[in-house]
Amino acid sequence: MRYSQLLLPTTKETPAEAEVVSHQLLVRGGFIRKLTSGMYTYLPLGFLALQKVVGIVREEMNRAGAQEILMPMVQPGDLWQESGRWKKYGPELLRFQDRHDRDYCLGPTHEEVVTDIARRELQSYRQLPINLYQIQTKFRDEIRPRFGLMRGREFMMKDAYSFDVDDAGANRSYEIMRQAYTRIFARCGLEFRAVEADSGTIGGSYSHEFMVLAETGEDTLVICDTCPYAANVEKAAIAPPDETGADSMRSEVRKVATPGLKQVDKVAEFFKISQSGVIKTMIYLADGEPVAALVRGDREVQPVKMKNLLGANEVEVLDEEQVWQRTRLPVGYLGPMGLGIKVVADQEVMRMVDAVAGANEKGFHCTGVNPGRDFQPDVAGDLRQIAADDRCPVCGGGLRLKEGIEVGHIFKLGTNYSEAMHATFQGSDGQQNPFIMGCYGIGVSRVVAAAIEQNHDAKGIIFPVPLAPFQVIVLNLNPKDETFCRVADGLYNDLRAHGLDVLYDDRDERPGSKFNDADLLGIPYRLTVGKTYEKEGKVELRSRRTGATEVWALDEAVAHIAGLVRQVPA
Ligand code: ATP
Ligand code: MG
Repeated sequence: MRYSQLLLPTTKETPAEAEVVSHQLLVRGGFIRKLTSGMYTYLPLGFLALQKVVGIVREEMNRAGAQEILMPMVQPGDLWQESGRWKKYGPELLRFQDRHDRDYCLGPTHEEVVTDIARRELQSYRQLPINLYQIQTKFRDEIRPRFGLMRGREFMMKDAYSFDVDDAGANRSYEIMRQAYTRIFARCGLEFRAVEADSGTIGGSYSHEFMVLAETGEDTLVICDTCPYAANVEKAAIAPPDETGADSMRSEVRKVATPGLKQVDKVAEFFKISQSGVIKTMIYLADGEPVAALVRGDREVQPVKMKNLLGANEVEVLDEEQVWQRTRLPVGYLGPMGLGIKVVADQEVMRMVDAVAGANEKGFHCTGVNPGRDFQPDVAGDLRQIAADDRCPVCGGGLRLKEGIEVGHIFKLGTNYSEAMHATFQGSDGQQNPFIMGCYGIGVSRVVAAAIEQNHDAKGIIFPVPLAPFQVIVLNLNPKDETFCRVADGLYNDLRAHGLDVLYDDRDERPGSKFNDADLLGIPYRLTVGKTYEKEGKVELRSRRTGATEVWALDEAVAHIAGLVRQVPA
């Protein structure tokens, strides 16, 4: 492609709202333009990068035996009523009516539609197993669309759904997808980990997330130093703590004035105890109802664990103002005794002895608080987030925490959807059985953003070769000179004849701005017809990643570059 003819509006300006580097660079590099909150147009370069991901995903899905289909993006509400998700899904589901007042939604995911296909088209065990996938635009009315392509409202997803006759078959289908995903992200040239994950709204018994490791990731992973255990902190289980000893020596509850002491550390300091001796009480809204969550003062509440313990669809922490409005309770002095709202406690809290907790009265805390004796939570269990000083739940080894971007998610769904929607097939015994299902998603557009989060420097993007919209950029630094044009044209044509994706910077621009744009766009190899050509009739090849430059004779340069690009495993 000739740069002079390409819609490639690079800019020095970074939108104020672009908090993360991929968002900034995608806008500055002219890859995307915002239409409205969470919705973007892919300009030519953005579309090419997206298509690189699509190509790899499609090849590996086909290689794994999945079959590509395309389902409608608009889905009838009736199907969602059948699955039970019309009520459950919440405000992320964009709902609307047609001219006959019938309910519809924009597809955030396609379990309902594909299950409807299965119950109509798959009658016999002989047609199974089968895995159907599509690559399609999804819509989720995210509460906080942000970070450009990372969390859009409209985004590109690959979603696949497997149907099996029994559990063993479903496990095999899951394993095939786990391996396909591993190949996909390796082929994209990304550093990633597969981790154990919570099953979320889609529901199901078992799941893994594929995480691209990057500091800006919205997810936190816990990774064991000694065994293969790796999990999302939302999921990482914590074993119940040991029983405490005899309780004969416990103190009585005593109310103590603690004016102005609202933080756990201040309270601990005042009572000359460690933070682990304080009960921390936080107020959340769980499906619209205020709930108090209790953890030890040195721990954090894990909201997904809380959601699961309560069987809620959504939990959200409330700030001081919101707590006051809803409950008239004084944040900073909250405690589990006499709260008057539902209480969920971490298992560790239930083992505390003579703890300090808020008195639910402004300026007062209580000492000698003993769970079980002085208060009884409505629910107790594993509520807190795992921390770096915890031990591995599998082998007891040391743990590390890392940030990650979720680019893929695979679930074993079991019969959740097939039972709700009466999707059955005839087994070899003649009986009607529900399909055992699995579902498998990849955030295709998020992969582009994640690749940039992981691969960039101060000058711009450093695309992994397999995802680069162009593999090579040819710079003609003297486009007014006929000889230069002839040489650069020749290289451009030769490189393309070798099957490479080439951007030809034939613009009449200063060399400095051509170099800057080439760096910004992150094209892996830069071939310059400039000073070296003038002096010795040779061209300069530079690697965007390493910055190393080499000088090549005209008749050798092209084959050499083709060799470099092909080194990438397919
Ligand atoms: P998240 O926790 O990030 O919201 P999710 O668990 O809701 O993700 P899934 O329902 O598993 O996501 O969707 C499959 C994949 O689609 C995710 O792994 C992710 O890569 C991608 N994805 C989900 N939501 C978005 C979004 N708002 N923008 C871009 N990609 C997304
Ligand atoms: Mg989500």
